[in-house]
Amino acid sequence: MSDILINHVYKRFAVPGNEVVALKDINLDIAAGEFVCLLGPSGCGKSTLLNAIAGFSHPSEGSITVGGRPVVNPGPDRGMVFQEYALFPWMTVAKNVRFGLEVKGMAKDAADARVRELLDMLGLSEFGERFPKDLSGGMRQRVAIARVLALDSPVLLMDEPFGALDALTRRSLQDELLKIWARLGKTIVFVTHSIEEAIYLADRIVVLTYRPGTVKRDIRVEMPRPRD
Ligand code: ADP
Ligand code: ADP
Repeated sequence: MSDILINHVYKRFAVPGNEVVALKDINLDIAAGEFVCLLGPSGCGKSTLLNAIAGFSHPSEGSITVGGRPVVNPGPDRGMVFQEYALFPWMTVAKNVRFGLEVKGMAKDAADARVRELLDMLGLSEFGERFPKDLSGGMRQRVAIARVLALDSPVLLMDEPFGALDALTRRSLQDELLKIWARLGKTIVFVTHSIEEAIYLADRIVVLTYRPGTVKRDIRVEMPRPRD
C-alpha cells in the first residue's frame, strides 16, 4: 500500500530577476511503514520536497497525496521534526510533550499517562520538569521526537534532525529512532546529506542530485549480487 505518492513535482522559487528550479520532475512512491532517506548535497531540494509533503509549501506543478488524500495544508497525519528543536521555551519538557494531546482534546488523566509513557520511551523520565534551555542538544531532540509522537501521526517527516549533534549523541538518537520505528510502524521520510546516516537508517535511500543551474544526473546505487 502506498502511503505517500509524489507525482511529477516541480518547485520554482521566484528570486529577483530570476527563477530557481528547486525540484524538477520528482516522482516517488513511499509505502506505509517504509523508512526512506532523502539524500543529496546541500541545495539539491531535500527540504523543499519535505516541506511540500508536510504541506508547508505547495508544488509549482504536480501532485502529492498522503494516505490517498491530496496535501493542501500541514495536518496531524504528518508530524515534523526539525534540526533546531522548535520546542516552546516557556514550557517544561512535560508540557511540551503534552501540548499536542491537549490540542487533540485528550482527557487529563489519559494525557498524564501518555506523557509519562512518551517521556519513558525517550529516556526523559527524569527531565519532565526541566525547561528546554537546561537540556543538551541531544535531550532537546528527544523531547522534539516525544512531542511529535504524541500526535500519533502515521507519517514522520524529519529534516536533518540529528545534524547539529555530536557523533556519539547522533548514534544513540539514531538507534532510538530505529527502535521507535520498528515498534510503532511509522512511515518515515528522513532528510540527510550524510551517506553514512542514510545507510545506517534507511530501508530505501532516494538520492536527489539536481542542483539548480546544473545538469540532472542519474546515480546508480547497486547491491552486489552473487554470480551464477
Ligand atoms: P537542501 O534541503 O537539499 O539543502 P533546499 O530544498 O533547501 O535544498 O533548496 C533547494 C534550492 O531551492 C536551493 O537552490 C535553494 O536556494 C532554493 N530555495 C529554497 N527555498 C527557497 C526560497 N524560499 N526562495 C528561494 N529559493 C529557495
Ligand atoms: P504556496 O503554498 O503558495 O506555493 P510557497 O510554496 O511559495 O507558497 O511557500 C510559502 C512561503 O514559504 C514562501 O515565503 C516561501 O518563500 C517559503 N518557503 C517555501 N519553501 C521553502 C524552503 N524550502 N525554504 C525556505 N522557505 C521556503
